[in-house]
Amino acid sequence: MAHKQNYLEKMELNKQHRLESGLVSECFPAVSDIKIEMTYYMKGFKQACMIRTVNFWPSRHAYFNMDCMIKDCIDGGFDLTAVITHMVKKHEKSGKGELSCKGKISDRSSQHARIDYKISIKYSTDPQRISKEKGEKSNS
Ligand SMILES: [Zn+2]
Repeated sequence: MAHKQNYLEKMELNKQHRLESGLVSECFPAVSDIKIEMTYYMKGFKQACMIRTVNFWPSRHAYFNMDCMIKDCIDGGFDLTAVITHMVKKHEKSGKGELSCKGKISDRSSQHARIDYKISIKYSTDPQRISKEKGEKSNS
């Protein structure tokens, strides 16, 4: 049952990474809500195999590494951290694109899976916070 063992270890590792990442409110103080819509595709299948929507609030951990849907995939997944960080920096409200899983599976080639993603970000309308951010921006 080596595969199952790996999977459990992976799950533990993911849990740890999730806890190590800060809260959304700490990483992105201006953000009030993040919605990620993902359509999963597996290589060899034309139709989407899964559609998933994940929501993030300020009190949730800012962990945007989505698991690959293939259990045996090692070091795989879809990391949207860079995309979301970039969007927040530019104050973008929506964005989309696609990512391929770079993980390894013993009996399958890489690029075995990909997602189309659509991200919507809502920003806090707290006037105090916004004026503070503007102040910081004009200072730089
Ligand atoms: Zn994978």
